[in-house]
Amino acid sequence: MSPSAVAANAHAGESEVNLTNAAIEHRTSGTDAANGTSNITNGVHTKALPKLDASKLTYSFTKSPREIPAPGVTSDDGNSICTDHMVCVPWKSKSGWGTPELKPYGPLNLMPTASCLHYATECFEGMKAYRGFDGKLRLFRPDCNAARMLMSSVRISLPAFEPAELEKLVLALMAVDGPKWLPRERPGTFIYLRPTMIGTQSALGVQAPNEALLYIIATYMPIMDNPVGGMRLHTSPDDMVRAWVGGFGYAKVGANYGPSLLATQEARERGFGQILWLYGEQGYCTEAGASNFFVVWKDKESGKTQVVTAPLDDRLILDGVTRRSALQLIRERLSDKVEVVERKYTINEVMEASNEGRLVECFASGTAYFVMPISLIHHRGQDLPFPMGKAGEGGEVTLKVKGWLKDIMYGNEQHPWGVVVPEEQ
Ligand SMILES: *Cc1c(COP(=O)(O)O)cnc(C)c1O
Repeated sequence: MSPSAVAANAHAGESEVNLTNAAIEHRTSGTDAANGTSNITNGVHTKALPKLDASKLTYSFTKSPREIPAPGVTSDDGNSICTDHMVCVPWKSKSGWGTPELKPYGPLNLMPTASCLHYATECFEGMKAYRGFDGKLRLFRPDCNAARMLMSSVRISLPAFEPAELEKLVLALMAVDGPKWLPRERPGTFIYLRPTMIGTQSALGVQAPNEALLYIIATYMPIMDNPVGGMRLHTSPDDMVRAWVGGFGYAKVGANYGPSLLATQEARERGFGQILWLYGEQGYCTEAGASNFFVVWKDKESGKTQVVTAPLDDRLILDGVTRRSALQLIRERLSDKVEVVERKYTINEVMEASNEGRLVECFASGTAYFVMPISLIHHRGQDLPFPMGKAGEGGEVTLKVKGWLKDIMYGNEQHPWGVVVPEEQ
């Protein structure tokens, strides 16, 4: 096991649920095999078929390299700016994984009947590469992203693969595009990586696709972790949930996001940054937009300071890499001051804490938004304000977690979670 995998497992047990294994078991169980697809795609027969193999990567470099944008410029007329190259790997149920190819970034060749365009056979990952203050380029716990991608993929009948091979392909893309697109002269900057898998079979039958494409792209993204005055959240409409028990909220599949955009857009028009997704009659707090959500309060009974966040065991929320890293660091480094509590809790409990003056701070976490202070929740006509710390940039726990993670990501602290990209020169 790699050092980072060891670290990832160090706190397994009480707090971490192995979603990956459960999903794979489900996918390869008798009931699934009975539908006539998974026995071919993920079962016995695949053993003989070629596996995903990063060592076979071929390189065809762009003949028209683009200029990199000025510092701070992250999009072009509203469109993402991607790097010169991408990695693509085709898969077929009959022939297994094809040859991975690093090639110029550009449009995909897809038939209008492609599975992903009709049945949401799409999943993705979000991770970043960080240009350290020591000049090195790093990924943050890429093994966690690769394992989660496998879990998401099998959840929607896309093929299984060896996660370590995906990790190597991400490293290979950054080894080529990293030096130019995250230059050493710009320490403290990042680029966003988006491994994606789509069902490509061109057949309008509601069935598991027998062809798929794995691709990895890299793009700029703005810094979003420091909105002026903190992020303001609006609770979700009474007639909408983001995910449900028995659903797939725990998987990073495209089908989770499109339907949430309507409420988000409405909230934005009213001056809020994201939706706080509540669940069920009781109004359980789950996630803030596509970020994990944490409340720091003084516990009603014990008076202790607690960081409270939704649990993983009911599979409503996504097992964020930032979430689990934040919780682990708080447990390791702040346990004398703060207790970590993963449990179901309701918006009414937050309101009660607000009324009783027990709210300490609030933040959301995710790769895109990083660790973001939240200054207010609006729920059914009522505003619940959160203290934003002395400098107005977030509470103590929020800023501590942010600082620790930043130090690891940008190489100020040598840590097994920071994986150095071996760059080409
Ligand atoms: C991606 C995502 C997160 C954050 O996960 P990280 O691994 O920390 O980036 C949280 N919630 C949802 C719904 C997400 O899609």
